[in-house]
Amino acid sequence: MRRLNFTNMQVASSETARDINRGVVLNLIRRRQPISRADLARASGLQRSTVSLITEQLIQEGWVVNGPLGRLPRGRRPTFLRLNERRAIVVADLRPNQSTVAVADVNGRFLSQETVPTSNHPAKTAAKLAASIRHQMKSHPELAYGGVGISLSGRVSAETGRIIFAPNLKWPEFDFKGAIERATGMQVELANAANACVLAEVWFSSGEIVNDMVVVTVSEGIGTGLFVNQSLAKGLNSMAGEFGHVSLDPNGPQCSCGGRGCWEVFGSNRAAMRYYSESASESEEFSFEDLMRLAESGDLLAVKALDRMAHQIGRGMRIVATGLAPEEIVVVGEFTRLWSRFGSIIESEVAAAVLVGKAPRVRPAADPRMSRLRGAVALVLQKHFGASSPDDVSRRPRETQSLSRSVN
Ligand SMILES: [Zn+2]
Repeated sequence: MRRLNFTNMQVASSETARDINRGVVLNLIRRRQPISRADLARASGLQRSTVSLITEQLIQEGWVVNGPLGRLPRGRRPTFLRLNERRAIVVADLRPNQSTVAVADVNGRFLSQETVPTSNHPAKTAAKLAASIRHQMKSHPELAYGGVGISLSGRVSAETGRIIFAPNLKWPEFDFKGAIERATGMQVELANAANACVLAEVWFSSGEIVNDMVVVTVSEGIGTGLFVNQSLAKGLNSMAGEFGHVSLDPNGPQCSCGGRGCWEVFGSNRAAMRYYSESASESEEFSFEDLMRLAESGDLLAVKALDRMAHQIGRGMRIVATGLAPEEIVVVGEFTRLWSRFGSIIESEVAAAVLVGKAPRVRPAADPRMSRLRGAVALVLQKHFGASSPDDVSRRPRETQSLSRSVN
């Protein structure tokens, strides 16, 4: 007996059913660890014998270990199960100029990280990134790796796995996944950064998962990940969510995509830096981080540049809010560090776009600095744990959830 709400499920072959049940059990352990087999059976609706078979297999595969002994008022003490923290995932966040490579355990805790330069030469960047991945893996010889997850500023073809659109990296179409797999011998999962950030919210947030959410990543460009009716929207050619390249002004500045006046040429980190350099007299090289520091130290021109950026972020979000009516808009990016100062500008722009009812909640991601990397962790986990299971687990009826930690 399953309680999954798969709208597109066909009649499951017994193998598929086994995979789904395995995903349900793995996710229950992940969310409620440590948990006894009896509670797993109750929460999943599966037979005790089925749960025992699945957990034995998961222990053999090294995903799950026997945890502490439980305590009961009387009778036998049950053995709790938890995820095996020695199971790890190597992740990377591929961005223009600089990428980050990190190691995380199966619970999404980061153990180490390093940065590598990114160039507009895909093969050279792939070689550097692969060397960094190998280096990170060697520095934790005690861990068993479950795969490599990469989030990137760009789009990946669902059919071929090749990068098909990466204007900010200035890359042509390229088989990045294949290059990293050949160089590391590991299986690689690749996804658009905004989509990865949606996964980070869905997999690692402790609260209820909303039905409709949009994640907006603000960095060198602007990306959006669309979580519609509990699913990640992919769209034709895996291109859903390119709101950053919707033109707000056909006479506006040239965009890296070839168009003019796209949302991202007005609302990205690069846009704020352009606003500042247009107004400031000095023409020194500076980074977005420098600009934020200037604003924090009270530099009026820097504040003005970020203020303008915030208005433009909000302006583009009006299109997102009006068109998709999400419950939540989650913002990822360095800019969120100054949310207490500029967040209200974005919120009021969005509120002005609402036609009926209350405005969507606009908030920074729980840990915006790690969102892209955490999403890359989820990318690998969903291969092993099943794609649709986490939200299913979180949306079980309350009476089932309240049993999670009790043993009787
Ligand atoms: Zn564009």
